[in-house]
Amino acid sequence: CGIVGVIGNPKTTDILLKGLEKLEYRGYDSAGIYVNDEQGNDFLIKRKGKISELEAAVTPDVQGLMGIGHTRWATHGVPSDQNAHPQVSNDGRFYLVHNGVIENYQALKDDYLNDVDFVSDTDTEVVVQLVAKFAREGLSGHDAFQKALRLLQGSFAFILADRQEADRLYVAKNKSPLLIGAGKGFNVVCSDALAMIDETNQFVEIHDGEMVTLTADQIKIETIAAGTPVERAPYTVEMD
Ligand code: GLU
Repeated sequence: CGIVGVIGNPKTTDILLKGLEKLEYRGYDSAGIYVNDEQGNDFLIKRKGKISELEAAVTPDVQGLMGIGHTRWATHGVPSDQNAHPQVSNDGRFYLVHNGVIENYQALKDDYLNDVDFVSDTDTEVVVQLVAKFAREGLSGHDAFQKALRLLQGSFAFILADRQEADRLYVAKNKSPLLIGAGKGFNVVCSDALAMIDETNQFVEIHDGEMVTLTADQIKIETIAAGTPVERAPYTVEMD
């Protein structure tokens, strides 16, 4: 129901948790974060229930420079710790948060992922396992994500973290809300500007059918279908 992401900021954990709190009013049944310090240490914490329960499970050592967070409103699979996001590929490489519904998840599972043991009942896990499969077949993280996106039917706002390239996040959108926030020396992602307005007031719209490669100092937008680069200037959000 809500997503947040941070790249290039040492206060990542605080920014993610504060962002999720600001999205609480929209309703949710579980919440989770993934944080990576870009030095090989990373943390995945997810809980059914309130964000306060997630926060209670986040120990002081959970610090990093990049991360993603999610509040879930279950559509496929009951509310549970396992079904909460981020969803993880079996090889532990890719971490994905998702708002929306993947309509053809069963067909994708049957066609591509017969050999994969699933740990959740979510439509989202199919996508992260698919990305990992394409990466195992030799594609880069970027190309594996793009190939998977091209196969999807339905609605999504995604943020994908790749443990092997922790200096970036991949983002994609179709029919679910998603914005990039441009900070000074870092960037953020959110489903609603409210979640990140304390970090920046400069936001970049992402349109349906677009994906983004986000580093601390770059926002690279392209179309999912053709990989055509897209230029888009930020706008200023005023909030009182
Ligand atoms: N369809 C996904 C799930 O059930 C995402 C739900 C959401 O938008 O929070 O896990």
